[in-house]
Amino acid sequence: MNDTKERSPRGLRFKLFTYFLLFSLIIVVLLWVFQILFLDRFYDAITDARLKKAAEEIAEAVKGDSLYETAERASRENGACVNVYSIEDLQAVCLCSVDAEVACVIHILSQRQLNTLYKSTYASGGSYSNAYRLIEGEGFRFADEKAEIAEGEKIVDERKVYAHLITAPDGEEIFVLMDHPLSPIEATTNILRVQLSVLSAVLLLISFLLAYFISRRISLPLSFLNIAARRLPSGRYPADYRETGYREVAELSQTLSEAAVEIGKVDKMKKELIANISHDLRTPLTMIIGYAEVMRDMPDENTPENMQVIINEAHRLSSMVEDLVSISRYEGNADEVKKERFSLSEEIRNITEEYRSLLSSRGYSVEGSVEEGLFVLADRRRLLQTARNLIHNAVNYAGEDKTVLLRLFKTDGNSVRFEVEDHGEGIAEEDLERIWERYYRVDKEHVRSVVGSGLGLSIVRENLELHGARYGVESALGRGSVFWFELKLEK
Ligand code: ADP
Repeated sequence: MNDTKERSPRGLRFKLFTYFLLFSLIIVVLLWVFQILFLDRFYDAITDARLKKAAEEIAEAVKGDSLYETAERASRENGACVNVYSIEDLQAVCLCSVDAEVACVIHILSQRQLNTLYKSTYASGGSYSNAYRLIEGEGFRFADEKAEIAEGEKIVDERKVYAHLITAPDGEEIFVLMDHPLSPIEATTNILRVQLSVLSAVLLLISFLLAYFISRRISLPLSFLNIAARRLPSGRYPADYRETGYREVAELSQTLSEAAVEIGKVDKMKKELIANISHDLRTPLTMIIGYAEVMRDMPDENTPENMQVIINEAHRLSSMVEDLVSISRYEGNADEVKKERFSLSEEIRNITEEYRSLLSSRGYSVEGSVEEGLFVLADRRRLLQTARNLIHNAVNYAGEDKTVLLRLFKTDGNSVRFEVEDHGEGIAEEDLERIWERYYRVDKEHVRSVVGSGLGLSIVRENLELHGARYGVESALGRGSVFWFELKLEK
């Protein structure tokens, strides 16, 4: 026995649960990253862009007469101090100065510091920004962000200076300085951190609960359905089992119920078939054994007629076995169709002859009206098996007149139509649909005398459907039946 058991995949519930939690976790992480880690960078980038735009507007306004208004507006809108210089021969002349706050860096610049700023701006291609600390000790001074603070000094403010340098068409250099408080990002971040901690915990808890209930709601009906479906093979699946919850489960449950009904039917039919077949097999076998023993023991009985009985019974056996073999072969390679072009007229003529000579001794009359030269594109073996099964049935269920009529002709619609007619008892309206089902036999008790497995017409149906052919039966009780099929005519 093979005991290397394959590891079964994780259940739906586990997966849903994990994905849900993972999703929430990703959201929480993203929130933290954007709100805490990158907040100052975002803030810096946005402020830089805003100040740069304002500085450009101010520099533009130098040549007009609205310099002061522009600088004032920029100062108001950005909460920044503004200084505008004209640089000539490395000498800065202040053109305009607007104060937004008392403590700012650009208003306590020494000439040397102004020069340094100018050079840095020049070196950076016209735009420069840097953060400074405004330090109060003996008076005010400012130092770079990372600079050390001496004892007795304290940081009053943190500022960002933005410098912009342009050269006017007449060669004059305009140097705009803006000074802007670095907003208390750290305080904001701290508040956000506390908020986010609470939010993350709540979010994870909610998603945990949601994941639990949703996964339960989705998987529970499936589990119940599975338990019920396990009973399918034993036929104990309730045919009207309805597991609701959501549409897919209801549909699956409906499908399983239908399958249960079908399995039940097939099971019943199979049992009947086995009973029938064993009964039907026994009759010809008893006849063969009986006749053979008589012929062995009594040399006088060794007549051609008795031999014929044995041969006929052996034929009955063989045709029953053939039906069974066909159906199992069919199940093995259901959609294998080897199409070829051949003359159906010729084949039907041969079959007619074959049946005529075989059955004439038993008093049957098989008559054929076959139009010549009708070709089709089809699987020869399957099509001839189809024709034979129909003829077989017509012979089996033929009426008193023991007549079977075969017709092959071309229809108006460019098709070839094959018809098998008998004048037997016919088929009741309510059975017409069902006779094509596997193992289905009308009036089992009565037909017991006739050899049959209930498979013949199901083979016919499968074969014709594989060819996309039209087929059917016209039948009236007491008057007989005409079974027919139509295939496309092949020129
Ligand atoms: P079977 O081997 O029992 O003939 P089929 O599948 O060929 O199985 O046919 C199914 C049932 O259809 C038969 O049991 C029979 O009752 C009915 N049937 C088929 N052909 C005819 C016919 N020509 N005349 C009357 N009944 C027929």
